[in-house]
Amino acid sequence: MAPIVIDGASIAGAIRSEVADAVAERDRHGLAKPGLATILVGEDPASAVYVANKIKACSQVGFEGFHHALPADSNFEAVEALIEQLNSDPTVSGILLQLPVPEGLDGAALSALISPNKDVDGLTPASAGALALGRPGLRPCTPAGIIELLDRTAIQISGSEAVIVGRSDLVGRPLASLLLERDATVTICHSRTIDLPEVCRRADILIVAVGRPELVAADWVKPGATVIDVGINRTDSGLIGDVDFAGASKVAGAITPVPGGVGPMTIAMLLRNTLLAVESVEARVSA
Ligand code: NAD
Repeated sequence: MAPIVIDGASIAGAIRSEVADAVAERDRHGLAKPGLATILVGEDPASAVYVANKIKACSQVGFEGFHHALPADSNFEAVEALIEQLNSDPTVSGILLQLPVPEGLDGAALSALISPNKDVDGLTPASAGALALGRPGLRPCTPAGIIELLDRTAIQISGSEAVIVGRSDLVGRPLASLLLERDATVTICHSRTIDLPEVCRRADILIVAVGRPELVAADWVKPGATVIDVGINRTDSGLIGDVDFAGASKVAGAITPVPGGVGPMTIAMLLRNTLLAVESVEARVSA
């Protein structure tokens, strides 16, 4: 039987519309627009495109956008001062420092200065710690987007055997915590895992975030399993994922394509995080 092909573009579109509706509803109640501040240091062309896409997505859902372009030779103190100013600005709900920053600046140390209440990327040590301890906080966009894909495809997470391939701070590790929070039995694999195919074959939900074209073959997939392919690999034949999509589609019960699966979810979740950030500040003020 053909698998369900999980349509990330349409699920991301639904999330963007929900965020836009919430902003319009806030407007009707006289509440401020959520505001996202973006910081781009230097002129890396790829980073400039990523930031431009985020700014465009913000304006499409009715957010305020505050863009700060700093010269490539900015020192740590200059970026620090800007982050501190944005931390205390009540019109700014979320702050995004586009990484990587130019050589000579410590991007991790700068990101860590972002207030946890405004950390819409969900990647600072404070946010990662809250997630690891199961405490409330803003969650990283790509892993949170994967949970949305599973939920909106009605894939049962609780009690499932979930195998994640890749242990990065951006995807694998936070995703393990999110799946654990939802009562999956979680295994994390990495480059030193012995007999990776055998571990993958245990998975009811197999998530691959490695960055190696078609690493996962069809015979690594348990019949009927859900396969989430996070990988984005640029090849001569276009963008391909970490999973052999054609082969795995013959075995899986549900599978994400590349492109059009996980990819579109990241910006959608950034928008939702910015909305959650402003709502949680308001909830604290009125409590
Ligand atoms: P990373 O390079 O930080 O981490 C890769 C992980 O894979 C490491 O933990 C490593 O141990 C593991 N690994 C490497 N070789 C392996 C092997 N042969 N077998 C098993 N594990 C192995 O990568 P990342 O930032 O997590 O990104 C992974 C992929 O996901 C990339 O293709 C990236 O482009 C993509 N990505 C997509 C999105 C999105 O769709 N929005 C977001 C983030 C990352």
